[in-house]
Amino acid sequence: MTTIMKKIGIMGGTFDPIHIGHLILGEAAYQQFQLDRVWFMPAGNPPHKQNRKGRASDEERVEMVRRAIASNPHFDVSMIEMNEDGYTYTYRTLETLRSQNPDTDYYFIIGADSLFDLDQWREPQRILEACHMVVATRNQIPEEQFNQILARRREQYQGDFFQLDTPNLDISSKHLRKMIRGGESVKYYLPDPVIEYINQKQLYMDKSDGGQRCD
Ligand code: ATP
Ligand code: MG
Repeated sequence: MTTIMKKIGIMGGTFDPIHIGHLILGEAAYQQFQLDRVWFMPAGNPPHKQNRKGRASDEERVEMVRRAIASNPHFDVSMIEMNEDGYTYTYRTLETLRSQNPDTDYYFIIGADSLFDLDQWREPQRILEACHMVVATRNQIPEEQFNQILARRREQYQGDFFQLDTPNLDISSKHLRKMIRGGESVKYYLPDPVIEYINQKQLYMDKSDGGQRCD
């Protein structure tokens, strides 16, 4: 008897804040790989990194993810890493998931910058043994260079690296934090419910200003 494997996409990130780049990647992966669901998995910040100036707290980042995905019936929030104390490592998270759900294939979704950094991640080989890696282009990386790094990583780790079919989405949380701090509008870069929350909590803004808005 053949088991029909469930297919889950995982989009891990700091999501400080979650933006349309993350959401578009999740939806594109859902379509391209015929996934059953896509989980958005916020990384927990170690204690010394919490409540840093100009950053949102763990609770606020999770709340923004919840609001951002609320209108999509096949998106979920995964609190696995957020609920761990201290550092979490992707390989451990994926290995735990695999042992708990042996009938599920995991598709870990990343941008090209993360593919470049993969050597610095803890136990990349074990990550590739536990999931398929789905990679989106980013930062205007030329096609040829993107293909080269994909080929290199396939050779290094003998894992599945798939290219996600998305346009270059020139958007980052870092740049959005800067725009908000500078009083610029971020409308359409973030879903409206996330913008409302940022305004309500005055996130990323100069708090002394009081009633600043980013729409
Ligand atoms: P920051 O600027 O704070 O690093 P970010 O926009 O890179 O934020 P992260 O939460 O660090 O967002 O990213 C989570 C994952 O999403 C990473 O694998 C990253 O490469 C990917 N990602 C984020 N934005 C994009 C984008 N615009 N295009 C492609 N991949 C992206
Ligand atoms: Mg990043």
